[in-house]
Parts: sequence; structure tokens; C-alpha cells
Amino acid sequence: MTLKLRCEDYGFECEFEIDEEKSIALIEKLRNHFEEEHGIDYTMGAVTQMITNRGHSLESIKK
Ligand SMILES: [Zn+2]
Repeated sequence: MTLKLRCEDYGFECEFEIDEEKSIALIEKLRNHFEEEHGIDYTMGAVTQMITNRGHSLESIKK
């Protein structure tokens, strides 16, 4: 199952988006993007929370 994440959904004016298999790597990519492009060093936990707050279920990949 894939998950589409768009940076603009997280409050940035940015066209970055990821659309791939739900996995920890997907969350890491978004986290790394926030850090590299926007200079915000979110924790994995914070990014996971942001994604679930958008209504996406991450149950299947939670450790
Ligand atoms: Zn962005």
C-alpha cells in the first residue's frame, strides 16, 4: 500500500511530494526533506504524529 505525502500539507509552500510504499523510510524521507529544505529538525516521532494527524494510518509500520 502506498502513501502520498505532500510537503504543502504540512504547512510549507513547497511542491515536494513523495508517493511510495508505506515504510519507515518514507517517514525518514519526509523528515530529511524538512531538515534539508526547510531547516527544521523534527524528530521521527513528531513527523509520524504529523502524518497520522492528517488522517493517515501508520499502524502497519509502527515499531
Ligand atoms: Zn518542502
